Amino acid sequence: MNFGIAFAPLVNVQILWAAFAVACILSILLFVSRSPGAAIRTAGLALIVLALANPSLTREDRDPLSSVAVVVVDKSPSQNFGDRTRQTEEARAAIVGRLSRIPGLDVRVFGKPMSFWERHMPVGMLLRSGWDATHIADPARSLTLEAFQAATGNHFSKPVPLDRFVQYGRWYQRQALPDLDPREIVRVETGPKGFQITLDDGESFSSRRVVVAAGIHPFARRPPEFANLDPALASHTSEHRDLGRFAGQQVLVLGSGQSALESAALLFEACAEVEVAGRAHQIHWLQGWASTTLHSRLGKIVRNLLYAPTDVGPAGISQLMARPDLLRKLPRRLQDKLRKRAVRPAGSRWLVKRLEKVPIRLGRSVTSVASVGERLKVRFDDGSERNVQHVLFGTGYSVNISKYPFLAPELVQSIRQFNGYPVLQAGLETSVPGLHILGAPAAWSFGPLLQFVSGARFASRALLRRINGSAATETSSERTR
Ligand SMILES: Cc1cc2nc3c(=O)[nH]c(=O)nc-3n(C[C@H](O)[C@H](O)[C@H](O)COP(=O)(O)OP(=O)(O)OC[C@H]3O[C@@H](n4cnc5c(N)ncnc54)[C@H](O)[C@@H]3O)c2cc1C
Repeated sequence: MNFGIAFAPLVNVQILWAAFAVACILSILLFVSRSPGAAIRTAGLALIVLALANPSLTREDRDPLSSVAVVVVDKSPSQNFGDRTRQTEEARAAIVGRLSRIPGLDVRVFGKPMSFWERHMPVGMLLRSGWDATHIADPARSLTLEAFQAATGNHFSKPVPLDRFVQYGRWYQRQALPDLDPREIVRVETGPKGFQITLDDGESFSSRRVVVAAGIHPFARRPPEFANLDPALASHTSEHRDLGRFAGQQVLVLGSGQSALESAALLFEACAEVEVAGRAHQIHWLQGWASTTLHSRLGKIVRNLLYAPTDVGPAGISQLMARPDLLRKLPRRLQDKLRKRAVRPAGSRWLVKRLEKVPIRLGRSVTSVASVGERLKVRFDDGSERNVQHVLFGTGYSVNISKYPFLAPELVQSIRQFNGYPVLQAGLETSVPGLHILGAPAAWSFGPLLQFVSGARFASRALLRRINGSAATETSSERTR
């Protein structure tokens, strides 16, 4: 087993070096002026700098990697002349093909790009996240929304429309991950060489590390009162791509967050007779007077102090949410409170006008449901009743990793969990060494940033640090053999 130390600075590196320099100067002054308690004060300064550098112990008890190879591809404009792009691509594919045959150097990525966004969100939806929080992370920060617009001539502004975001994601994938394998993984289980992975066409292979970034689709939350009803009468928002199919029908939408409210607006615009019912006593509308003042009217400096570009959480809390390593050091109860506040159900301001004519009844819970012919009779705790043709659950998602159908039950059982969330360590690694879980399931350990597109930069860096850290310890242990 090898131990090492990894650093994940809580501030950017320039600030860390500046703090180090200031601490050194102060310490020298303390000693030169023979100030009483110079040693203790110097130790205090060292501790502050160390806390900012955020060290953590890394442990690796796996077989050493034999080698790490980096393929650098020139994408400068000069490569666009003549046949160069094709030649470069052929050379890259040949190198990757050869490298992939070296044991221990095979990175394989599976999945269908943007499939959740395309299949499980409604046509006409607008992204709630701000523009800066919607760039998909890449190391060089070159695959931004602006780069996509420039490369494709595709023009749109904020809020970003769903269809354009899907096109952007596909473009991103073609640039960053042309070798993506669209096959589905049907099984991940522990095997003699780490993990055994089985694909939908029967192919099976082993891997020493598995990174699960499989999204939230299996976690759709359906109210238990509707459990035994015909799915044709009651469904979750994630089951629909085109809400236009409800034109002319009476639809009751349950929930009072963004997905319930936006679905109601789209249903109304598709000529359904729609009504919203929610348990909350009020709707929290985003971009209100106070937040618009802090965000836009008091200038860039105030905005940047209070809001991080990751756009998760209100003024002040936003900065904390953008720093998962810091958030995680707070007492658990405080973390939970901040997390709840940062992502409480809320609706974008641009929905207010679109919902003007939609009845919204709040402060009520469903007590019973019965199907009457081709309709549903829904009773609420205030004694009111609704008789509708369809009930749509805008009730969000509830993480429970045992619902990932591809994770073997024995593997799920061996993962340390809290309320369905994996309890993750540095590098978003579960208690099963080599198994990492990214995205919404990481939110209990690293905060709600991980539920959003803007959390991918933190997640990928943390993952890479962990893998590089263990590769470094592996390589050094190899050298000492
Ligand atoms: C209505 C709605 C609106 C939202 N709006 C926003 C927003 O405005 N901004 C924002 O940041 N976030 C938003 N989100 C959250 C959004 O879902 C996440 O930010 C984002 O999708 C997380 O990315 P991900 O890669 O973790 O998961 P996903 O985007 O869901 O990707 C999962 C991937 O895993 C693949 N996969 C799953 N299972 C398998 C398998 N067995 N084998 C192989 N591949 C598999 C899928 O094909 C897919 O490619 C919204 C969510 C909802 C429901």
